[in-house]
Amino acid sequence: MAKYGFTSKIIHCDRRGPIEHGSIHKPIHTAVAYTYDDARDLAKVFQGKQPGYTYGRQVNPTVTALQDKVSLMEGGLATAAFATGMGAIGTTLFALLRAGDHVISSSFLFGNTNSLFNSFSAHGIEVTFVDATDVANVEAAVQANTKLVFVETIANPRTQVTDLAEIGALCEQHGLIFFVDNTMTTPYLFQPSQVKASLVINSLTKYIGGHANALGGSVTELGNYDWQRFDNIYDDYKGADSRLWGITQIKKKGLRDLGASLGPEAAHHISVGSDTLALRMERACSNTLKLAEYLSTHDKVKKVYYPGLQEHPQHGRSKQLFKSAGAIMSIELVDDIDCFDFINALDLVACSSNLGDTRSLAIPVAHSIYYEMGPERRASMGISDSLVRFSIGIEEPEDLLADFETALA
Ligand SMILES: *Cc1c(COP(=O)(O)O)cnc(C)c1O
Repeated sequence: MAKYGFTSKIIHCDRRGPIEHGSIHKPIHTAVAYTYDDARDLAKVFQGKQPGYTYGRQVNPTVTALQDKVSLMEGGLATAAFATGMGAIGTTLFALLRAGDHVISSSFLFGNTNSLFNSFSAHGIEVTFVDATDVANVEAAVQANTKLVFVETIANPRTQVTDLAEIGALCEQHGLIFFVDNTMTTPYLFQPSQVKASLVINSLTKYIGGHANALGGSVTELGNYDWQRFDNIYDDYKGADSRLWGITQIKKKGLRDLGASLGPEAAHHISVGSDTLALRMERACSNTLKLAEYLSTHDKVKKVYYPGLQEHPQHGRSKQLFKSAGAIMSIELVDDIDCFDFINALDLVACSSNLGDTRSLAIPVAHSIYYEMGPERRASMGISDSLVRFSIGIEEPEDLLADFETALA
């Protein structure tokens, strides 16, 4: 498979494994439990001595096929799938960390991840938020009990690009787990393994599923971290290949015990959606660049935030790391235009909180997804009251340009 390109590889991956009746893709298996003719086989499967399926909260053939597909996309060793992206992040930290451990996180974060990390703080896992566009801030926050660094690639909604390569090197030097949220870039635009990430999380709900019809999340082990350096692994999960200790503990102590499991129907929707990830990303990214260029010269637009624009502070880094600059763009309008009026004037672009859909979406972020965190934290993240975030879809570019032109007029 290594000789093939991204799409060739993933659309043919299901049938490289055992697949029933010559099905062209993995079918939906809805069974929650599995039966064995020989009770000894069931015992062997439970004990991990024989491959097989036990119970739907832990494993499911349709979900396994999707996990393998995500591993292939990310160039990773193994993947655990979850009911949502938040389930993936929360479960992973729960499985790997203990009270008294310390985490360094980018302060430019998806709102619910920010809220979740504050909950971990309340449970005795200390979290320090830093501006991760510069590795120096991460380095200054390292403590004796630091275990993990968490960042997003391109931050939502202000599109800051993390100092990924330098932070990867820093984590390697200090023996820290480097946990990267690749949702914004997807494994098509960027593979975190290139910057020595240990674990990568994707919200499958967004671009990978891509059609706003299924929730899901994944965590992939990239094989770059030496788990023998990590003292929170239980002896039970120290198998022969130490590269898999972390993901095994995430699957057992996390997925199995917390139960944020992905259902087979959702796994199927996500898998079908992911077949066209590359095609959708190409179109969505090129649409976004066209719109960003148009809006950056428009006299009713005060500011455009998009890493594909020359004036973006991390334009060079984005160009170096990512195939293209993604399909999230935020703007601030001139003072006398109300952002609600502007969003209401759009016809084709829908007002909605999701991102990574085939459809273009707009949302007034300060008043919605970032409302709960309050004005001070919003200000520290660069989120002004007039900021409008767009997740640009795959419509014809001329239709999108016309929609913005009309709405701004
Ligand atoms: C949406 C999102 C998540 C959470 O994913 P869900 O599937 O909605 O739980 C995490 N990180 C980023 C960057 C996201 O955009």
